[in-house]
Amino acid sequence: MSEDVNPFESLQEQIDDAAAYLDVPEDVLTRLKNPERVLETNLTIEMDDGSLQTFRAYRSQFNGDRGPYKGGIRYHPGVTRDEVKALSGWMVYKCATVDIPYGGGKGGIVVDPRELSDGELERLTRSFAKELRPIIGEDQDIPAPDVNTGQREMNWIKDTYETLENTTAPGVITGKAIESGGSEGRVEATGRSTMLTAREAFDYLDKDIEGATVAVQGFGNAGSVAAQLTQEDLGGKIVAASDSSGAVYNPDGFDVAALKEFKTRTGSLTGYENATEEFTNEDLLTLDVDLLIPAALENAIDGDLARDVQADVIVEAANGPLTPDADDVLTERDVHVFPDILANAGGVTVSYFEWVQNRQRFYWPESRVNDELERHIVEAFEGLVDAYETNDLPNYRTAAYVVAIERVVKAYDEAGTWP
Ligand code: NAD
Repeated sequence: MSEDVNPFESLQEQIDDAAAYLDVPEDVLTRLKNPERVLETNLTIEMDDGSLQTFRAYRSQFNGDRGPYKGGIRYHPGVTRDEVKALSGWMVYKCATVDIPYGGGKGGIVVDPRELSDGELERLTRSFAKELRPIIGEDQDIPAPDVNTGQREMNWIKDTYETLENTTAPGVITGKAIESGGSEGRVEATGRSTMLTAREAFDYLDKDIEGATVAVQGFGNAGSVAAQLTQEDLGGKIVAASDSSGAVYNPDGFDVAALKEFKTRTGSLTGYENATEEFTNEDLLTLDVDLLIPAALENAIDGDLARDVQADVIVEAANGPLTPDADDVLTERDVHVFPDILANAGGVTVSYFEWVQNRQRFYWPESRVNDELERHIVEAFEGLVDAYETNDLPNYRTAAYVVAIERVVKAYDEAGTWP
């Protein structure tokens, strides 16, 4: 993993790479590469022992040309201003790739949530919601979960917003629990789009996914669901999985549901009795498998590590798991990389469905959510390979950005510049 690569610079490089194949004027390109605004705030809360502690937090609103800003909120000690800016930019191009009517935003608090009690976390979350209130709203900016946040935090943010605004506005945030206005299928959505992308990719490449060996880095919400659906729906063999404790391996494949149950019960993957071997995360990323799914954090594979990657196909569940150097090396080595802005777009796509249901106060069954998600991902996949073939592009990431940038630029052109 490369700590030195600035994810915001990676994002800008990815945009430049794609813009080289498009006729985008330099001044418009500058706009496409920078956030419209970033809120930086310091949240002071009372800890359980009566002392005060201050936590830095950010919300980046990158681009709103295609609709309200949309994107998750991350709790992690490694959160930085540039990371949040990058993540908000990836959201713009992700929403455009799958053609949902949103711009991009992202937020984060510099905190290790494991060090806070539930009460402290609630006060911190509500404090952030109070700071965000003037700039979020059902038609302005709609946050969602990301690393270390989930339904509980989304419910707190919704409640704080609605209390301060003296209204009901469930569509101000997505990823809520069902009882608070959440959508069926939201929790599984990111992993489901990763599975669907893998299915389409193997089909496109004329490879068999049934019986294919799969390694998954990061066994959280995105990775564990991607692993489970790839096994259960496609017949893939999950031979390796990892979390921050390390990696477990079994050449015969894991029963992913049982592995998930072990992780939920013990808090980590290591120590799992059905593993034949345990090794490091780096070993997992360079394992000889048919499909590698990075589903942890950004910069997992840099240029050096990319030279040792043995997988034939990579489907990115995490945001930005490959550095631009890694992309160059893997393109040169003919490893097929299907990018995050398609493969993990299920999360934001079902967030969009949640928001639609909230606005209509009319709720869909899970089957409808999953069918609509499949339609969006399959159509986006087809659009991506069409752009790849028509423009003779070097890789699928560039193809996704070409499709997405064209859509954002068109919306901007149609709106015109004001004032
Ligand atoms: P999560 O907190 O549920 O899971 C993250 C997992 O990664 C955990 O199991 C953690 O132990 C593991 N991990 C952390 N560092 C690791 C390392 N160095 N090596 C191996 N494992 C490591 O988070 P998540 O929601 O699953 O998000 C994971 C990625 O997917 C992030 O990049 C996130 O931005 C992206 N993503 C998530 C969603 C969503 O809906 N949850 C949507 C789109 C993108």
